[in-house]
Amino acid sequence: MATLLEVRNLEAFYGQTQALHGIDFSLEDGGITTLLGANGAGKTTTLRAICGMITTSGEVNFAGTPVMGRKTEDIVRQGIAHVPEGRGTFDRITTEENLRLGAYTRRDSAAVAEDMETVFSYFPRLRERRNQQAGTMSGGEQQMLAVGRALMLRPRLMLLDEPSFGLAPLIVQELFEILRTINREQNVSMLLVEQNASLALSLADHAYLLETGRVVMSGTSEEIASDESVRQAYLGY
Ligand code: ATP
Repeated sequence: MATLLEVRNLEAFYGQTQALHGIDFSLEDGGITTLLGANGAGKTTTLRAICGMITTSGEVNFAGTPVMGRKTEDIVRQGIAHVPEGRGTFDRITTEENLRLGAYTRRDSAAVAEDMETVFSYFPRLRERRNQQAGTMSGGEQQMLAVGRALMLRPRLMLLDEPSFGLAPLIVQELFEILRTINREQNVSMLLVEQNASLALSLADHAYLLETGRVVMSGTSEEIASDESVRQAYLGY
């Protein structure tokens, strides 16, 4: 399989504090890769670096094109959609208006309308709530909206930051099942950041373990899930 995303020697600083110490990883086209690690390991920072939201050094290649140093908007146009921690949807406008905003880089209005139908087919609850103010919806519905909004960009890669955060287990199961379907049917590759390691490993095919800004282990999800130290520290059995 071809490589879609390649990250080499990624370093990031917040003032004097070095958050990333030369991260290397890659993601196959069509794959789902997860970044695991404790609080503060650098997972969120890595996603922000890939979409150009913070200044970093190193190399980020997407579909064979270097994107490091480019503006976030250009990176989004290349096909990378970020679903940030805390979702990033707008509370005071409706579901439908949030989805339209998701397509802000596009001018093809017929195709945008088609894509909204596609989003509603994955998330029927969003269709029911298309005229509801986003801020009044449940946490699960708002997370679905955040994923739907990212889909409106027709991305090749989705960066998902803690999509399970604060959601009830049944809702998480439903959401992750839909993510798996979107990955298969829309050929959207995914880079998933999760505190919940067992959940992440159940969705992803490959995993990288980060500790204090470094990759300390990598492999297929099965390999990582069966590692004794990972089981003790991150899976709790
Ligand atoms: P979490 O799950 O808690 O978000 P994380 O693995 O995503 O953890 P990051 O948020 O990437 O970790 O943080 C990596 C390091 O950078 C941490 O030491 C954190 O304190 C620091 N850091 C993150 N954001 C900032 C910021 N805006 N200013 C200063 N330091 C920051």
